[in-house]
Amino acid sequence: MSVNIPFINEFSQLPEACFSRVLPTPVSQPTLVAFNHLLADSLGISSEHDAGLAAVFSGNQVPANADPLAMAYSGHQFGHLNPQLGDGRAILLGDVRDNRNQLRDIQLKGSGRTPYSRNGDGRSPLGPAMREYLLCEAMHALGVPTTRALALVTTGDTVYRERREPGAVFTRVAASHIRVGTFQYFALRRDEKSLRALADHTLARHFPDISPESESRYLELFTEIVRQQAELIARWMLLGFIHGVMNTDNMTVSGETIDYGPCAFMDNFSRSKVFSSIDQQGRYAYQNQPAIGQWNLARLAEALLGLFPGDEYDAVAAATQVLNDYSQWHQQAWESGMSEKLGLGTTAEQDRQLAEDLLTLLEQGRIDYSHFFHALAQCTEQDADRTPLLLLIDPAIPGDATRQQLEEWLNRWQDEVSNRTSPETAAQKMRSVNPAVIPRNHRIAEAINAGEQGDFSVFYALADALRSPYQEHPEFSKGPRSGEEVLRTFCGT
Ligand code: AMP
Ligand code: MG
Repeated sequence: MSVNIPFINEFSQLPEACFSRVLPTPVSQPTLVAFNHLLADSLGISSEHDAGLAAVFSGNQVPANADPLAMAYSGHQFGHLNPQLGDGRAILLGDVRDNRNQLRDIQLKGSGRTPYSRNGDGRSPLGPAMREYLLCEAMHALGVPTTRALALVTTGDTVYRERREPGAVFTRVAASHIRVGTFQYFALRRDEKSLRALADHTLARHFPDISPESESRYLELFTEIVRQQAELIARWMLLGFIHGVMNTDNMTVSGETIDYGPCAFMDNFSRSKVFSSIDQQGRYAYQNQPAIGQWNLARLAEALLGLFPGDEYDAVAAATQVLNDYSQWHQQAWESGMSEKLGLGTTAEQDRQLAEDLLTLLEQGRIDYSHFFHALAQCTEQDADRTPLLLLIDPAIPGDATRQQLEEWLNRWQDEVSNRTSPETAAQKMRSVNPAVIPRNHRIAEAINAGEQGDFSVFYALADALRSPYQEHPEFSKGPRSGEEVLRTFCGT
């Protein structure tokens, strides 16, 4: 075998109700498009040649010691409970310990049908696979907890969606693939044995600091999951990221961002922004994400309630307290992140208003969110040239009220900077948190269009720039020109 993966497969030791063992379905002509060597090294994966990698990461060759399976889960999709979901187009090859001794899942996506496929074909078109590759690696480089991309292989087969598309298999690495919906699955079936086994596995795997002897260990588990989600969603908000499908089956308990479908980074700032073509009510709009996170976590609380200490009344009271704390944890994470984005170092009472006023102006002026924050670092000095910032206001907006208000805001902000820190320190801090490059929709679309024609040079160049998002990459930093904007994103499943 030319590829060695040191599988240990702890997940497959869980009760059989948690999964179905299933093998990937072979593809016609596997060709390796991308392989993340650094990540592979950290997982102890070794290989002799690319053909071996293509065979393994297309599912054509199952590596020794793998224990392939599809995981069972339920989920609230757009608010409606679907009791029977599960990996319909994904197969977990197994888990390994990485070089920091953390357990990591290796999962193929698009590797054929499973018992959970329902009417789906178990396959993935190339476009969504390229998209997930670019987005999760960009999020990682931006410092956001996320699943990772290990490999991208084209299959040589056609996938039929609204049109004929080239097929691909994407290999994902995750701290685990345990979702809110995984717990819901067992709670709905009143399978307490599996629920408890899953909770114990989650505790040992993600929260080793919680004592397995503690009587309140499951409540502590819930609390930590809630805390991490509150912080994760604050990170998304600070970057202008919209997940797009925050169903409970797309929310991990590890605190990692997962399931990059119709997600997007905003260009022009708008609180009510929605990209996903299937999100017709705007349930998962940018500004709704914190509240939706809390709603999803309330569904997790319902699933775990029977494991909390005390009677049902005590359990509900404890869960409610944690869910209330969520709002505060989220707000704190967002405020301290905003103070950093504004170069203010510490968080002060007035920062929240300063930030909210800025967001209102960005919205009013249809200003590019990431571009603005990145350019703001040039203006920490009182006598700095503000023209580049003012030019970000949409010229189609009549009058110069927005311009004047933005000038006033800049005065307020510069006063705050000079009262709290030095302009140099502020600028330096700002450059380390406000990216020069984000995975913009029109750039991703460009890479996918070329990739579908067999030209991956655009994809490689974009992936390369996104690996160092805080450095200048002038060719990738700009927002879309008129006519280049992508207004809708698709699941593409
Ligand atoms: P997602 O859109 O990733 O949240 O997927 C929702 C559910 O649909 C999951 O259970 C997926 O496994 C399943 N699914 C999505 N696409 C396919 C497909 N092409 N074939 C089979 N199942 C699918
Ligand atoms: Mg999903």
